[in-house]
Amino acid sequence: MAVPQNRVTRSRRNMRRSHDALVAGNPAECPNCGELKRPHHVCGACGHYDQREVVAVSKEVDVDEDAA
Ligand SMILES: [Zn+2]
Repeated sequence: MAVPQNRVTRSRRNMRRSHDALVAGNPAECPNCGELKRPHHVCGACGHYDQREVVAVSKEVDVDEDAA
């Protein structure tokens, strides 16, 4: 098994991790429904892309409806 030859100090460890921070996305407004969506992705709310519907949006299924 490979074993580290030298101890990585807190300083070096933290310097390495200085570039590990997550960055916020860059959400854009959907031109169809106004919902925030990822750029160059189909809108998750209305299924539109490039001003037309490319994914049919199914109606929400109520799980409790059958029980009642
Ligand atoms: Zn949309």
